[in-house]
Amino acid sequence: MIVNTEGIVLKQRKIANNRRIIVTFSKTYGKINAGTSINEKSKGKSALALRPFTYAEYQIFKGRDYYNIDSATVKKSYYAIGEDFDRFIVASQILEYIDKITEEGQPRPMLFDLTIEFLESITRVSGNYETLLYAFIVKTLRMQGIMPELKCCIDCGKPLSEFGKGKGKKIKMFSVTSGGVICENCHKAETSTGSALIYSPSFDIIEVLQYFILKPMETFEKLKLRPEVSEQIKNILAEYIKHYLDIDVFKDEKG
Ligand SMILES: [Zn+2]
Repeated sequence: MIVNTEGIVLKQRKIANNRRIIVTFSKTYGKINAGTSINEKSKGKSALALRPFTYAEYQIFKGRDYYNIDSATVKKSYYAIGEDFDRFIVASQILEYIDKITEEGQPRPMLFDLTIEFLESITRVSGNYETLLYAFIVKTLRMQGIMPELKCCIDCGKPLSEFGKGKGKKIKMFSVTSGGVICENCHKAETSTGSALIYSPSFDIIEVLQYFILKPMETFEKLKLRPEVSEQIKNILAEYIKHYLDIDVFKDEKG
């Protein structure tokens, strides 16, 4: 059966007989491993559409248990990603992350649309790529079913309004192990176990996470985070994603 779908190339690898396997995040079928004989060095429109970061329309032969890309047409080539090393690293981390959180043959339309928004945004900016990376990851938490609790203490249910009562300052601590904000009492209880992953950010973690969740991707093109805030968000997200999805999301980063 011949089918058409939009997709984004995540990666490719060579196999025998001048054939390649293209791992594509398709809109209709989710992630698919599709074989193709289209020559990568040819200057045809189909060859261009098989490069990573390319958003294309694919004509695919769908067999019972395999896919073959017969032809492809570029819808948008995000070639600018390859023109800046830092941009390339961040965009590669996103493709790798998508590859890890998607299952073959499971359509993920919301994640697909978010990926296109991300590629559009990262191509428009020069610098500030990390903020887009954090925004993308935070926006996937709910889709992955691992949204942290931000409205009350995840351990005892105490509402945020009662946090830090009598002490003047409302401290918001975030427990990766429990999966959300925790109150002072539960903080004491968790730290006594010695194994909890708890952060006490210098900024309002709830406000920041909700901002990432609610605002569209393009908002983050111009949002400059202070370096210390960026560093803390990065650490919390890295631990959180590692804890719940077993993925090292920032691992390819230099330095
Ligand atoms: Zn509590």
